Amino acid sequence: MAPINTAKITFLSRSSNEAFARGAVAAFVSQLDPTVAELSDIKTAVSEAVTNCTVHAYPDAVGKIELTVALYEQDKLVITVADKGVGIPDVEQAMQPMFTTGRPDERAGLGFAVMQSFMDQLKVRSHPGKGTRVTMTKYIRRR
Ligand code: ATP
Ligand code: MG
Repeated sequence: MAPINTAKITFLSRSSNEAFARGAVAAFVSQLDPTVAELSDIKTAVSEAVTNCTVHAYPDAVGKIELTVALYEQDKLVITVADKGVGIPDVEQAMQPMFTTGRPDERAGLGFAVMQSFMDQLKVRSHPGKGTRVTMTKYIRRR
């Protein structure tokens, strides 16, 4: 099914762009008239996905992050966050709550768990050495 509306932005994996990405998605989503709670869930999930690119995908470098938002019939919102970084060798394991390859004093290993609980659907595709694509779907209820 073709989307009703889409937007795509590409930005560098600098931590200052986490707020930019969150704000850009919020601005796009505002056309759906979401509740404060829905908007907060979406912004948090986007932050987690983008932070993962900054921290894990490009650990010692700055690389490109591509973010797309798409709105479909039935108020279905699909957000993708893609990088061309190191990739994830075992996606199933990486998605387990409290699994982290980061420093234990800095990372809780809960980013994917947060995305999963705040969105209606989460899909992660990754190829080691090629990059990772996170696809998140949320249905915005009409009031
Ligand atoms: P937290 O999000 O709580 O700070 P975390 O980032 O380690 O900790 P998750 O976001 O759940 O936890 O990610 C789990 C693991 O998946 C990461 O530790 C990392 O190994 C891997 N990972 C996640 N996203 C990416 C990515 N874009 N590229 C490469 N590896 C990733
Ligand atoms: Mg994380």
